[in-house]
Amino acid sequence: MKTIGLLGGMSWESSLGYYRTINQGIKTALGGLHSAKIAMVSVDFQPIEQLQHSGDWQKTAETLVNSAKQVQAAGADCLLICTNTMHKVAPQIASSIDIPLLHIADATAEVIVNKGFSTVGLLGTAFTMEQDFYKNRLTENYGIKVLIPNEQDRVIIHDVIYQELCLGKVNAASKNEYLRIMKALSQQGAQAIILGCTEIGMLVEQSDIPIPLLDTTIIHANKAIDFALSDEI
Ligand code: GLU
Repeated sequence: MKTIGLLGGMSWESSLGYYRTINQGIKTALGGLHSAKIAMVSVDFQPIEQLQHSGDWQKTAETLVNSAKQVQAAGADCLLICTNTMHKVAPQIASSIDIPLLHIADATAEVIVNKGFSTVGLLGTAFTMEQDFYKNRLTENYGIKVLIPNEQDRVIIHDVIYQELCLGKVNAASKNEYLRIMKALSQQGAQAIILGCTEIGMLVEQSDIPIPLLDTTIIHANKAIDFALSDEI
């Protein structure tokens, strides 16, 4: 079994989901007392969040490059950045390490293509919904059309992520807002909704809504499980 490298803490609430999903997947595949081999570095999110909102992405890249090198030095065979948003600096991170970076948008796009969807809605931070680094990868590399909520709804989605979910708060009113926004995207033609922020799975589950949900935490964790087990058979 290969060792999975996790760059987490953004937020730690969602890193828990990675840890649990990956270990459960390895246990299911191998049985008994098997668990995942993981090398993890978990950062302090507060300074990262401040740099994001002041637009200093170069500084966030420097911090995460240092952490990624620590993950590699700890023996990881691959790296996962456990957040959609910080894939904005994925190119700088990938070029500073020798192990493969398993990109969250590629993992998600592969699922979308396999399921036969061509138009999807995207929920995430304003950075993820509005900037090119994520949407363009889906569109240019996989031919997927990506719909995002209107401006007012993007503010709601973004604020709930930073003011509630990243703090571990799960609020019923916020959940209803998310479901309303997902339905609106579906009416505009979205065949599925990308939960493009690793905390959204804390708030909404598939049983809440008939539109297919693509939880990037689960999808990304599954990609890591496949990687770890790729030399088993
Ligand atoms: N975990 C989130 C994401 O997937 C948001 C927190 C962050 O800004 O990294 O985008």
